[in-house]
Amino acid sequence: MVSMDLPETSLPAHGTPREELFADLRARKSADADWRAGRTWSLIYPAGEDVDAVLREAHELYLYENALNPFRFPSLADMEREVVAMTAGLLHAPPGASGSLTSGGTESIMQAIRVARDRAAVESPALVVPRSAHPAFAKGAKYFGLELRQIPLDAALRADVSAAAELIDERTVLVAGSAPNYPHGVVDPIPELAALAASRGIPFHTDACVGGFLLPFLPDAPAFDFRVPGVTTMSADVHKYGYATKGASVLLHRNGDHVLQYQAFLYQDWPGGLYGSLALAGARPAAPIAAAWAVMRYLGVDGYTRLVRRIMATVAKIRAGSTDLGLELLGDPAASVLAFTAPNIMAIGDEMDDRGWHLDRQNDPDALHLMVSPEHDRVVDRFLTDLRDSVDNAGQSRGVQARYS
Ligand SMILES: *Cc1c(COP(=O)(O)O)cnc(C)c1O
Repeated sequence: MVSMDLPETSLPAHGTPREELFADLRARKSADADWRAGRTWSLIYPAGEDVDAVLREAHELYLYENALNPFRFPSLADMEREVVAMTAGLLHAPPGASGSLTSGGTESIMQAIRVARDRAAVESPALVVPRSAHPAFAKGAKYFGLELRQIPLDAALRADVSAAAELIDERTVLVAGSAPNYPHGVVDPIPELAALAASRGIPFHTDACVGGFLLPFLPDAPAFDFRVPGVTTMSADVHKYGYATKGASVLLHRNGDHVLQYQAFLYQDWPGGLYGSLALAGARPAAPIAAAWAVMRYLGVDGYTRLVRRIMATVAKIRAGSTDLGLELLGDPAASVLAFTAPNIMAIGDEMDDRGWHLDRQNDPDALHLMVSPEHDRVVDRFLTDLRDSVDNAGQSRGVQARYS
């Protein structure tokens, strides 16, 4: 965490000239990770200059609008519905399904948890998720007062179905699995987990925040979407492998009635008139909605398929290259997320830091983590050369803290 101490600064008495202001801003930014050079392996998902241009143009058109009120800016409401509909189609949601655009995967997951809690209306509700599930589930459990129960992972780093069965009881309001998960890129046994939940009458959420815009374009993807009976809600982040700018994720409900029945917040017990919202936020930025809509329309099925092929070619190179170097790949990743371990993996990470690469550290077991993006095909050969040097030169780890990002 960054320090919460405030910097020594105050609102300047006089305004700052624009040139000076932006010189300062550019200087500050120069210390940030150089993602355009392909040096980051998480957080940003570069898909090329043409996609970049589409996103910027959409942003410029919608910088100022507010998506809080769908009646004032009907174009936003339409785009939001169309993004949700396009995503529902990709994930094979049946007729009658519905959903909304949220600010990100965390909000999609938290809303799914809240809806499940409110539907079940049991005392002391509990949530059952794999140990590898994203912290958004723990956050949702904490915010909305649920007990979090973690399903242990099996040898393949997938949620252990028989252990899950033991954790489910009459207080369980939602079971979830990831497609794929963040730490290892492994897809949980979604059909088995969803069947287990359904057999007890419990809703099931597939967290496809990462996979929602990847797996549909892979020929051999494991079953994960609404074609699996028992999957009741899904999250898919347009701002990850949908390539939109940050602030766009889709939450889908198999039963579309649940959107108004449980997700919506409607209020009129104040002097300001009827207030309605599907989101956790009130005022909502319009630009991410326009960007999500624009990039999905711009790419289409063939665009996404092309980008997934680029990713998978890079993944194949990294899998082969790092195994050659004696690094051990964790589990059997389904797509673009990889984690490697070795006895001195943290020291190798330090060496990669020195060579200007940003790789996230993980624990349990210690590992380096990569999320591959389309543009990484430009740097993968250099990456593997530096990885070889790093493996050859790795001594003692400097003890850089494992850090989630
Ligand atoms: C990123 C991620 C999330 C959370 O999404 P945010 O957009 O960061 O809030 C949830 N699940 C998985 C598997 C993720 O990788």
